[in-house]
Amino acid sequence: MEKKGVIFSGIQPSGMIHLGNYLGAIKNWVKLLDAYDAIFCVVDYHAITQPYETKEMQARIFDAARVNIASGLDPDRCTLFVQSRVPEHTELAWILNCVTAVGDLERMTQYKEKSKQHAGMVNAGLLNYPVLQASDILLYKAVGVPVGEDQAQHLEFCRDLARKFNRRFGDTFPVPDTMFGQTLKVLGTDGKHKMSKSMDNFLGVLEDEDVLWEKLRTSVTDEARKRRSDPGDPGRCNLYTMHLGISPEEVCRQVDHDCRNAKIGCVDCKKILFEHLMKDLEPIREKADQLSRQPEKVQQALEDGAARCKSLAEKTLEEVRAKIGLR
Ligand code: SF4
Repeated sequence: MEKKGVIFSGIQPSGMIHLGNYLGAIKNWVKLLDAYDAIFCVVDYHAITQPYETKEMQARIFDAARVNIASGLDPDRCTLFVQSRVPEHTELAWILNCVTAVGDLERMTQYKEKSKQHAGMVNAGLLNYPVLQASDILLYKAVGVPVGEDQAQHLEFCRDLARKFNRRFGDTFPVPDTMFGQTLKVLGTDGKHKMSKSMDNFLGVLEDEDVLWEKLRTSVTDEARKRRSDPGDPGRCNLYTMHLGISPEEVCRQVDHDCRNAKIGCVDCKKILFEHLMKDLEPIREKADQLSRQPEKVQQALEDGAARCKSLAEKTLEEVRAKIGLR
């Protein structure tokens, strides 16, 4: 089948892949692999904009690659690499910095939030983060970016930047589509915030089965449902969103009906979810285990990915340098 062009998405080397990443991103990416030339990048240059332990970084990168491969990003079907192995990302980011107004960066919500979080250390990398993100995408002339809606502002910035560059220097970059429809918004166990390690509200893909159940059992559901006899609203329940990502369609339909008619309690609903969750995660956990015993396979996939991306990136940069008058 002829592919519809490149899609690109970044993976944080967070050292922990949780259900938010898996259901909200990876599981849907896997469905796109046959239709698109999919490139996934472990974004270590992005990761260093926040405080981190240098000694832990390589293990975090390896782990992110290992679990993403185990979750279905098969290196035979897509390209996976580490951002810093292709320094052209930062060269293009520099060029794009020169087409970017500082005010546009200062207006970014994520920058404002992170600046508050790291008040003592607001580095310029944090401000320029969206430029590097745009360069990640544009370097491969991606036609689509399958990310969550929380990235909408950065994606719009990237699309604007592509248009601005094209207007000033001539048609160079396709304006990439935002592929929000390909993602599911899974919140943390508190049912309020985005699932994350720092909020300690995550369900880790590789966590111990007992730990996972305990976290799921105590997860917040539809808060308006006070008693078992109250009808619930799956639309207000984060657990139902997880069902949508994990359970078969007929199970989701049944849960929706039984919840709205108070025919099922939340603990029973969580037991059904847990059963399907463990079934879904089992092959991933096995594969991740296998890959930790064969680190050379992960390294090889990353090296092959970097080699391919480097040659694509060099080609784009040659064109860009020529267009901006540096060749
Ligand atoms: Fe959520 Fe299930 Fe409880 Fe309904 S029954 S509120 S979907 S956990």
